[in-house]
Amino acid sequence: MLNYNRTTEQWQEFDRDHHIHPFTDPDALGKKGTRVITKAEGSYIYDSEGHKILDGMAGLWCVNVGYGRKELIEAAERQIRELPYYNSFFQTAHPPQIELSRLLSEVTPEGFNHFFFAGSGSEANDTNVRLARHYWDIKGKPSKRTFISRRNAYHGSTLAATSLGGMGYMHNMGGDNGSLLPGFEHIEQPFWYLEGKDMTPEEFGLARARELEDKILEVGADNVAAFIGEPIQGAGGVIVPPSTYWPEIQRICKKYEILLVVDEVITGFGRTGNWFGQETFAIDGDMMTMAKGLSSGYIPASAVGLKDEVFEVLNSGGDINHGYTYSGHPVASAVAIANINYIKDHQLVEKVREETGPYLQAGLQNLADTHPLVGEARGRGLMAALQLVKDKETHEIFTGDQDAAGTCRDYCFNNDLIMRGTDQSMIMSPPLTITTSEIDELLDKAKLCLDLTARDLGVI
Ligand SMILES: *Cc1c(COP(=O)(O)O)cnc(C)c1O
Repeated sequence: MLNYNRTTEQWQEFDRDHHIHPFTDPDALGKKGTRVITKAEGSYIYDSEGHKILDGMAGLWCVNVGYGRKELIEAAERQIRELPYYNSFFQTAHPPQIELSRLLSEVTPEGFNHFFFAGSGSEANDTNVRLARHYWDIKGKPSKRTFISRRNAYHGSTLAATSLGGMGYMHNMGGDNGSLLPGFEHIEQPFWYLEGKDMTPEEFGLARARELEDKILEVGADNVAAFIGEPIQGAGGVIVPPSTYWPEIQRICKKYEILLVVDEVITGFGRTGNWFGQETFAIDGDMMTMAKGLSSGYIPASAVGLKDEVFEVLNSGGDINHGYTYSGHPVASAVAIANINYIKDHQLVEKVREETGPYLQAGLQNLADTHPLVGEARGRGLMAALQLVKDKETHEIFTGDQDAAGTCRDYCFNNDLIMRGTDQSMIMSPPLTITTSEIDELLDKAKLCLDLTARDLGVI
């Protein structure tokens, strides 16, 4: 049995001595010591020192239904007894993955009726790359292989997902572009506040979308398989594109016969106030990626959804030589079913759209209107960012030693609120079950931490 009763110091020691953390400097963390999270309930997590912390990030954008839901727990328990594992490689299937496929065809946008399962968002995006190239090969256009994506996009951390993503520091792990595969191209992101101030947001959205056309012409339409994008860039800083952006991307993809892959790993399952970001931005994708909110993070699960036309082509092309041992894992599928039913039964999508989403966004807008450090509040539904600035007029951000977001993130951490600091933005994505009084608590704590940060930076 796992001994849950060690002291914080013991956990920190074993962690430092044996555990390698993702996206972390191991030496620096070893010296500082990790915060050990021991349990969670609703919108709160608890650490080994007994602190009760409001989880403004829903874990890593994933715990959409909140913690401790008995429906998900019981689904896992029942399935692990009934059938803990079986594969679907050799002409077999089991009830949870069949039922999950059917349920996804109901909740995903019109025309998505076929689903391939994997264990993580990264694996699902690798699947997109393999299936999109296979699709063009079957259609007699094997040269269409290149994927175009955006700088500062996040699509995961396997080699293909890293290459799809637009994070330079990830590409450069292992030397200059040491983790960037050939066949992946990037255009600039639609980040108006920091990069487009000389234009109206609408002009800027069009200009950034038209970079896709330039890139297609540069690479040659006959060589481009697909464009991939998150409806709202999440890890990149909750970047909400101007209203002109997605319609123009759509037009260009259609004009040059490029598949449009929509990465809904964060924006799926109610996060933006609709079931999927494609509805929020009227995007008509050909393929889509789901993970995180698919199982609310209770257990790893991900999926790729294919539009009927894409599936029909694959259906005519013989073997699909791709799959994972845990594709459509029975326990993960059972939890995902319970999760989707929980979202439906508690009308979480409607709640985010009509109540909690507007409430959070209005509270953040109030901070942008009144706080000297906040240049912009942006987001949709329960996904949001506060842009921290040195100068609200020029949109200039803090640089060098003056790390406003890092300082603010540490203050949040010490004041029992989880918010993430990305570049110079404070990011949040709370559980979709968060109440308006919990949002008040989030906003009060955020304001306190912004005040402390402003004081440290000599702003107030
Ligand atoms: C988190 C994330 C991924 C990767 O998912 P993993 O499960 O971490 O592999 C892919 N795309 C987006 C938009 C994400 O936020």
